Amino acid sequence: SWTYADAPESTDHIQLKKRYELFIDGEFVKPVKGKYFDTVNPSNQNKIAAVAEASTEDVDKAVKAANKAFKGWSKLSGKERGKYIFRIARLIQERAREFSVIESLDGGKPIRESRDIDIPLAANHFFYYAGWADKLEYAFPNRKLKPVGVAGQIIPWNFPLLMAAWKIAPALATGNTVVLKPAETTPLTAMKLAEIIQESGLPKGVVNIVTGAGDTGAAIVNHPDIDKIAFTGSTNVGKYIQKAIAGTSKKLTLELGGKGANIIFEDAAIDQAVEGIVNAIFFNQGHVCCAGSRLFVQESVADIVIQKLKDRMGTLIVGDPLDKNTDIGAINSSKQLKTVKDYIKIGLNEGCEIYQPECELPKKGNWCAPTLFLNVSQSHRIVQEEIFGPVLTIQTFRTVDEVIEKANNTPYGLSAGVWTQKGSKIFNLTQKLNAGVVWANTYNKFDPTSPFGGYKESGFGREGGLHGLKGYVKFED
Ligand code: NAD
Repeated sequence: SWTYADAPESTDHIQLKKRYELFIDGEFVKPVKGKYFDTVNPSNQNKIAAVAEASTEDVDKAVKAANKAFKGWSKLSGKERGKYIFRIARLIQERAREFSVIESLDGGKPIRESRDIDIPLAANHFFYYAGWADKLEYAFPNRKLKPVGVAGQIIPWNFPLLMAAWKIAPALATGNTVVLKPAETTPLTAMKLAEIIQESGLPKGVVNIVTGAGDTGAAIVNHPDIDKIAFTGSTNVGKYIQKAIAGTSKKLTLELGGKGANIIFEDAAIDQAVEGIVNAIFFNQGHVCCAGSRLFVQESVADIVIQKLKDRMGTLIVGDPLDKNTDIGAINSSKQLKTVKDYIKIGLNEGCEIYQPECELPKKGNWCAPTLFLNVSQSHRIVQEEIFGPVLTIQTFRTVDEVIEKANNTPYGLSAGVWTQKGSKIFNLTQKLNAGVVWANTYNKFDPTSPFGGYKESGFGREGGLHGLKGYVKFED
């Protein structure tokens, strides 16, 4: 009977610590080498807090704790495991506002998105996998299965709490223990999650959270007593990990980059499609692996779609992530802002035509106006490479075969969108597009029951749904 409206209105009680420690074996502990790094608010560059930097020794402590805890946790009945996971879900719900504010402060995303999407979905993910914990024999009928062991989980900065939930919930449901590393620019909601995990009474060492950058991640990847690596992040780091663990018995799932094609046919409901285009690329500043960053419009409706899109872009509010009216928040880090700006320069140098609506950007902080590029062709770098920002390319097409050919022509294979009134066209395209997820007449819809993942250089393995359990079990028959 609990609803999000029951969460406390005021955020005054939100207390951020000055310093965040590592969460190892159920306790908050100082890093062995005593090193800390700053996490900053990307909307004004102010330091929010110091965060512990885990060294190889800290990672080793976390892995030892996870191995020790595995003995008890993997023997617990599914029903008991489910109770703990359910409790974590409830605690996230109860602190939903606090989580939302911290997520937007630390990461720059609009509070409307943290409040209505990231945090509720994170709670739902725990609820969903709490439900599977005592039903694994129905998930894999007539199979004898075991948990994999200790899972090393490394996540990116675009959906910090949600990615932690995607990783931790199925691992716990199947009886594994965890060493999780959040991204270095957004560690705070993971540390808040650690507080909740402690409060939930989850046995010590079942979940360990170590903060740090790439070196901490590499220490997890290379640790000999880790049995599975679950990685979400860039394709380059994914390739490094695949090479690093080659020849070991570690199980691996990779959720990597994308360059989603969003395809508008002439028979689509145009106004609805324009909203879909905006959501596909400007949601979360375009920091979305499955963003619809390549728009394909059928030639006969291209002029009208482009005009309506430009008009709609002019109404988008770029600014303070904590303002409920904001549509596009801050770019997550100055490093990412540089990447996005460099790609805009590349597009201009490639001779593409740019459109950015007039909008006043705040003076301090990391900001980028919504941007679209016209006169682009398949070979342009801005069409082939992931920008991971609010930048859209537009191409036109005449026939179904032509658009399929163009849509599939990138190294990635994560997501696509199709806008048409014809069911037959939708079914045809879902068969022919190389994409792990194809949305029809909508975009960026997520649900814990639906598997998510890629083909080609977007990675392998699925998270969410029944498929999400597979990465965390081994079959004995
Ligand atoms: P990144 O690869 O730089 O970092 C991801 C994580 O890996 C971070 O926690 C980082 O500290 C860690 N890391 C960095 N170097 C490492 C190393 N050598 N060994 C181990 N860990 C290391 O990616 P990012 O910039 O944080 O995230 C953006 C990327 O993530 C984009 O390419 C995006 O498409 C992808 N992404 C994919 C999905 C998906 O589900 N497919 C979801 C979200 C983001």
